[in-house]
Amino acid sequence: MTARDLHADIGDTLVSEERIAARVAELGARISEDFAGRRLTLVSVLKGSLPFMADLMRAISIPVRIDLMEVSSYGGAATESSGLVRILKDLSASIEGEDVLIVEDIIDTGLTLNYLVRYLRGKNPASLGICTLLDKPARRLVDINVNYTGFTIPDQFVVGYGLDYNELYRNLRYVGVLKPEVYAVPE
Ligand code: 5GP
Repeated sequence: MTARDLHADIGDTLVSEERIAARVAELGARISEDFAGRRLTLVSVLKGSLPFMADLMRAISIPVRIDLMEVSSYGGAATESSGLVRILKDLSASIEGEDVLIVEDIIDTGLTLNYLVRYLRGKNPASLGICTLLDKPARRLVDINVNYTGFTIPDQFVVGYGLDYNELYRNLRYVGVLKPEVYAVPE
């Protein structure tokens, strides 16, 4: 059952709204410096990266283009990565010759990003980097070179600030952990 109050299902807050805002501002400033004078395209991976992308792009003070992709790696209520990646929505413009930064919500096993990096490399960008809000290095199965990380978190399934459980909780302003009873399958 889902509680009527969005917050009632959350146990611990892992990253508060204030900490997210401060970190996004820092990342935006660093990216603005690192890519000054270059042609930067931010590629966000829907749907989980939506709030991060919206905040990060506005924390960047140089001109940027944005594009959106949607991939699926998790099915339904599953909280384990299958390693299977499907492209549900592709880029809408060419990234050839552009500096590209993939904007991700979270890197867990790394399988999704590993696939995306290879896919996007095939489109001949000038450079390809990764910016993730959250990193769970404990569960990494493939080596991924992450250029910008918001927060490194322990091996817990988190929701909020774009991240879902069964498509819910994306609209939380913070990142938290669900109470165990929320996962319980009703009889
Ligand atoms: P990976 O392929 O790195 O294992 O998984 C990446 C994707 O799995 C993320 O983009 C996200 O959609 C989902 N994911 C991984 N860990 C979590 C988590 O703790 N919470 C939620 N809500 N999604 C996660």
